[in-house]
Amino acid sequence: MSHISENIKKYREQMPEGVTLVAVSKTKPVSDLMEAYEVGQRIFGENKIQEMAAKWEEMPKDIEWHMIGHVQRNKVKYMAPFVNLIHAVDSLKLLKEINKEALKNNRTINCLLQVKIADEDSKFGLSQEDTTALLTSENLQDLKNIKIIGLMGMATFTDNQDQIISEFKVLKSCFDTLQKDYPQLTQLSMGMSADFKIAIAEGSTMVRIGSSIFGARNYN
Ligand SMILES: *Cc1c(COP(=O)(O)O)cnc(C)c1O
Repeated sequence: MSHISENIKKYREQMPEGVTLVAVSKTKPVSDLMEAYEVGQRIFGENKIQEMAAKWEEMPKDIEWHMIGHVQRNKVKYMAPFVNLIHAVDSLKLLKEINKEALKNNRTINCLLQVKIADEDSKFGLSQEDTTALLTSENLQDLKNIKIIGLMGMATFTDNQDQIISEFKVLKSCFDTLQKDYPQLTQLSMGMSADFKIAIAEGSTMVRIGSSIFGARNYN
């Protein structure tokens, strides 16, 4: 059996109840994704809209496609017909665009708000204050074709476990606080190959694992 199918099995077995495995397949060929599909994986995460759309067209239609990367508004239209969950929403403007394209396709699109927890400049996301403000925003009521179902965050890229733990704790506590007022928030997307065990221990409901399943990515 190939490494990919073995890895998928291994990771799926490691997922506690209530934790969803998103297989992050960005840059990987359809043949690799199909190996994961053959052993039962149905949720794939991509970070480039056009790449995801091309794979969607080519692959079986019972796959759930998650957009995990930063989203440019002018590209939302390419994924609106099929995307199941957009992980990294970080503005009302973007939500409005997703809503508009969802409506055109007669769909409701699930979204997560990305909260900035890392101490790096390169990571997108909302402050906790802006996350609360967005959820409270009156404009949100008008967006009938989107549903915010949770939060997403990325920890700092570091070997310092304590720092990762404390960043995930911040996100979990933000999630718990908001969930009291917004019970539709059920998903907390945190954890990647390097830190998913910590993320699960800290309350993640969705881990996004790429390189540990499919191998290192080659960007050339
Ligand atoms: C690439 C990516 C992942 C997966 O990263 P690995 O370290 O390969 O597991 C998870 N989340 C996001 C947002 C990503 O862009």
